Amino acid sequence: MFRAADNDPRYARRLAIIVPYRDRADHLGKFLPHVTAYFQQDKLDRNIRFSIHVIEQIGNDPFNRGRVKNCGFALVKHAHDYVCFHDVDYLPLWADYSWSQSPARLIWHGLTLGEDWENFFGGVVLFDKDAFERVNGYPNCYWGWGLEDHELGERCKLAGLDFERRDGTYMALPHKHAGFSAPGVLTEEARRNGAVFRGRQGNIAALLESDGLNSLAFNVVEKRPLSAQGQIIPHSFHYFVDLGALP
Ligand code: UDP
Ligand code: MN
Repeated sequence: MFRAADNDPRYARRLAIIVPYRDRADHLGKFLPHVTAYFQQDKLDRNIRFSIHVIEQIGNDPFNRGRVKNCGFALVKHAHDYVCFHDVDYLPLWADYSWSQSPARLIWHGLTLGEDWENFFGGVVLFDKDAFERVNGYPNCYWGWGLEDHELGERCKLAGLDFERRDGTYMALPHKHAGFSAPGVLTEEARRNGAVFRGRQGNIAALLESDGLNSLAFNVVEKRPLSAQGQIIPHSFHYFVDLGALP
């Protein structure tokens, strides 16, 4: 049977879903079967050739989400056309993972922290490979919660890349929040990263050139095939990465 999506370039590209990860076994146990089932459902996204790549930061340093996502990109870029950076704690219910040349934020409904519709650029974001390379990826210097996604948004503005706001619907899995200790009250690590951003704010254009994919160094210490409910997920892996020393 002919389906509209069969000849549509938005559905012909190879997608890598990159999940930054550490110490959220409950969430990952729900995420993997949910996402594989989601892409099998009878709608346009089922035509997308996707794979999932869980990138786990080893060691005890604070989590560095930007650097972990950059590692994921470096590991998958040879075999994929576009990537989706995907928090492990948002399960898609109704979303659009099709390719586009410009970046896209896929999530809106289901966000829980009063995010700003215009500017929020986290949670689930999609990037064409060339666009991500144009902004030199995420900054590598944010250890602990927050601001790496905001600085990526600033990089996109500088590069003249707006992002699509696709307003997908997701189910959020609850967890203790690392950025806020109470509504509106930032944690120590969030305040520290706020100060890091303010120190860089006047200099984002130069930092775009010097800090990102082109300055990334890491080691993969282990790579395992990914499975969900006893079935191998094709072309999908769990990588354990050593990010090296604090900056
Ligand atoms: N993450 C993780 N372990 C951590 C911190 C973050 O796996 O210790 C990953 C996970 O994919 C998570 C994402 O980074 O969904 C975003 O972090 P978090 O959920 O803490 O931030 P939020 O988006 O809730 O503010
Ligand atoms: Mn979360």
